[in-house]
Amino acid sequence: MEYLPNILFAIILVLGIGYFARNIKKLIRNIKLGQEVDASDNKSLRWKNVINIALGQSKMVKRPVSGFLHVIVYVGFIIINIEVLEIIIDGLFGTHRIGLKLLPESVYGFLIGAFEILAVLVLVSVIAFWIRRNVIKLKRFLSSEMKGWPKSDGNIILYFEVVLMCLFLVMNATDTSFQNLGHGNVISQFIAPWFGDNPDTLHMIERTAWWLHIVGILIFLNYLYFSKHLHILLAFPNTYYGSVEPKGKLNNLEAVTNEVKLMMDPNADPFAAPAEGAEEEAPAKFGASDVMDLNQIQLLNAYTCTECGRCTSACPANLTGKKLSPRKIMMDTRDRLEEVGKNIDANKGEFKDDGKQLLGDYITNEELWACTTCNACVEECPVSINPLSIILEMRRYLVMEQSAAPMELNNMMTNIENNGAPWPYNQMDRLNWKDE
Ligand code: SF4
Ligand code: SF4
Repeated sequence: MEYLPNILFAIILVLGIGYFARNIKKLIRNIKLGQEVDASDNKSLRWKNVINIALGQSKMVKRPVSGFLHVIVYVGFIIINIEVLEIIIDGLFGTHRIGLKLLPESVYGFLIGAFEILAVLVLVSVIAFWIRRNVIKLKRFLSSEMKGWPKSDGNIILYFEVVLMCLFLVMNATDTSFQNLGHGNVISQFIAPWFGDNPDTLHMIERTAWWLHIVGILIFLNYLYFSKHLHILLAFPNTYYGSVEPKGKLNNLEAVTNEVKLMMDPNADPFAAPAEGAEEEAPAKFGASDVMDLNQIQLLNAYTCTECGRCTSACPANLTGKKLSPRKIMMDTRDRLEEVGKNIDANKGEFKDDGKQLLGDYITNEELWACTTCNACVEECPVSINPLSIILEMRRYLVMEQSAAPMELNNMMTNIENNGAPWPYNQMDRLNWKDE
């Protein structure tokens, strides 16, 4: 019976981490449903992006208020959770505050004191976030795609953080031996009197807060998979694999480029063998109509999206009332990918055609053609997501597989084909305007 709490702790820990690992395996499997893509170039620039953008939050702070609050929550949450290490060791081996045995008292006190200050800063920031979402009601959190689960998700995570930070402070405030140390209780010493001085009651509250704290952290960890907060983990690989090409560079299909070159070169031999390194054949399908046609980085992008709406708030199409939100493009891609993943799970590892696809069932042609390809969404995204690349792949499918471009574009392409220019008259007439 003496070891019962330790055994219970070990079981909870294994279950919590095991379920999380199972979902991460599923997530990786889903991402691998996408097309392979070579991102082995520019390693040093990619690592620089991870350090600046993911670790240094350089793009977050471009909007100072939310950026600053986010940095506090991010730093606070990560650092405070170092303390979880101590909880795990204590839980497994039945020790109490093992850090005090491993570190000098002053160092331990300094660390816990810093964690307590950070906990209060996190609490203040989280409350400010809640007010921005629910009282001030910032426009970018009110779009149609943010109704229902995305709205609740944004709030649930804030409540989680409040509860975890409070439990941490209560745990310290009711730990008599820690309070008697006189080091590190910079905040909890002011809360301690709220709980009285009965040693049994204090011990019971301290143990309850300790258990709830670790169970809460494991629930939080497992909640991530179902939440936009997966970005806490995925922002790092996502910024590594983010594009390092100039933003205006479009991804041309080599097979199509070669066709055009052949058409434009009267001396070209259409039967000549392709140049070394060139694609030998046209792809089996042009563009993307479903998530499996997108590449793995685009699918990773979808799982990483924080639903912050910075992209949508800078999108000229959205700002002028068009039915396009780059945030929704990412959310739809993730939802469809999850749907495909569940289909595979339900059919013993095989995808069974469900008569649905990303194009049409989630994202409409109207949304796709509203995009001006300005790249503002890509520039704004704090975690290097590229909604435009998905839009372009789906447009490519519409044009090349379905000949379903809008009439204006079809007219222009016919003009280019017939007149060598986008205008509906002969090249010989192009200077007629001067005679008017
Ligand atoms: S590239 Fe398209 S989706 Fe992105 S901001 Fe510009 S118009 Fe909007
Ligand atoms: S794509 Fe980027 S900017 Fe847009 S909502 Fe997602 S994380 Fe925010």
